[in-house]
Amino acid sequence: MAPTKEPSFRDSVDLMFNRAVALMDLPPGLEEKIRVCNATYTVRFGVRLRGQIQTFVGYRSVHSEHMEPVKGGIRYSLGVNQNEVEALAALMTYKCALVEAPFGGSKGGLCIDPREYDEYELEMITRRFAYELAKRDLINPSQNVPAPDMGTGEREMAWIADQYARMNTTDINARACVTGKPLGAGGIKGRVEATGRGVQYALREFFRYPEDVAKAGLSGGLDGKRIVVQGLGNVGYHAAKFLSEEDGARITGIIERDGALIDDDGLDVEAVHQWIVKHGGITGFPDALHMAEGSVALEHDCDVLIPAAMEGVINLGNAARIKAPLIIEAANGPVTAGADEVLRDKGTVIIPDMYANAGGVTVSYFEWVKNLSHIRFGRLQRRQEEARHQLVVNELERLDRYLGDAWTMSPDFKARYLRGADELELVRSGLDDTMREAYQSMREVWHSRDDVEDLRVAAYLVSIDRVASSYRAKGL
Ligand code: NAD
Repeated sequence: MAPTKEPSFRDSVDLMFNRAVALMDLPPGLEEKIRVCNATYTVRFGVRLRGQIQTFVGYRSVHSEHMEPVKGGIRYSLGVNQNEVEALAALMTYKCALVEAPFGGSKGGLCIDPREYDEYELEMITRRFAYELAKRDLINPSQNVPAPDMGTGEREMAWIADQYARMNTTDINARACVTGKPLGAGGIKGRVEATGRGVQYALREFFRYPEDVAKAGLSGGLDGKRIVVQGLGNVGYHAAKFLSEEDGARITGIIERDGALIDDDGLDVEAVHQWIVKHGGITGFPDALHMAEGSVALEHDCDVLIPAAMEGVINLGNAARIKAPLIIEAANGPVTAGADEVLRDKGTVIIPDMYANAGGVTVSYFEWVKNLSHIRFGRLQRRQEEARHQLVVNELERLDRYLGDAWTMSPDFKARYLRGADELELVRSGLDDTMREAYQSMREVWHSRDDVEDLRVAAYLVSIDRVASSYRAKGL
């Protein structure tokens, strides 16, 4: 029977974890060791702003240190609390294990509405928060490496990196203390788009398997599919943009804080994004139906629903009315444990958060490696690759001359083949490979075991098994 009471976010993650471990043969002690959150640090600090001291509350939670450093974003939102940060830290442990990023799980948050402060004030607050965390090694290239999350981005990461460097002037690896930095401050190409790009690669991989697509009652590829996206922030904007511009999908609904836009012919994602940048919301956007109650649009008829804003938006209150046969969880925890059960009973296929939004941590991993190796990807081999390709092109040109009209090279072959891969191409290729491999590891469990009915349990089984092996190897 479906549950009637909604568990907290932390309890939701634990319930999903428990559903998976019930199918495993782990010693109870190890099961508990993996489930619990190792430590959560709460800090209250004051910053003098507008003539008076204001006190802020922040958290950094470390879920599992089976691998170090631990990794996880820092969120700025008024909803931040210990329960939420611990749930997100646990998800990071499972996510990193699933995509084989060699990190434990962590997460941080500051209870603040960033829109209430100007840039200078935010810098003061961020630097002070970073100072409090860094002095306890909760920001450290070899122990704990944050990244952007809701309400934070490149700018905040640059401040954090600089603050750490000021406190650790002889640490040659200081830049690796945080990821998601701007390019000029040690970032990597493709990090800003990474989570949305990962959502696109995840959907592409899903649609490569007709039997998986059929489980959602769909057929064919992404071309022409009707997609509703909630949250046109970093993740939602990039996912919607790439899916509509590169895969032929139609974005028929965009849900934001101030309502929803609906156009069954497909919205122009870039135009909506520009409108939000200029006007602060979607209200007033021309050429689309505007619904004041945005969350109702989650129930709009579509093929794919992409919740990319926040947790708990699909819950016992609306799960039964969700029409999308396929949900890809771009946000963390958008479907509560109760709603998950209702949707499973209805046959909805859910591509779970720990896989769907793992593009961010994957490219963060590449950035961290780049910072530690102190060299941009492709710098050593790119021209050498081009020189070797030139040899092949020279031979083909000789053949071309020899065969005359009987054979010619395709017009753009030479330019495309000659060009060695730059950092962005390498990052996208590494991300694509990671998303494909991780999907395949999940689907193998999904299809090979009769007791595994959904992708979420499959994902948990793969990742818990990897975390358990890591603990066992340490002798625990
Ligand atoms: P963001 O702050 O850039 O964007 C969030 C968007 O959602 C904003 O446009 C905001 O206006 C909108 N929004 C907020 N509340 C809403 C509501 N109630 N209804 C509709 N829209 C609402 O954040 P983000 O970085 O894109 O993160 C979104 C989600 O993705 C979060 O759950 C985050 O944990 C997860 N995530 C982010 C990353 C990353 O790399 N940024 C990586 C993994 C997971």
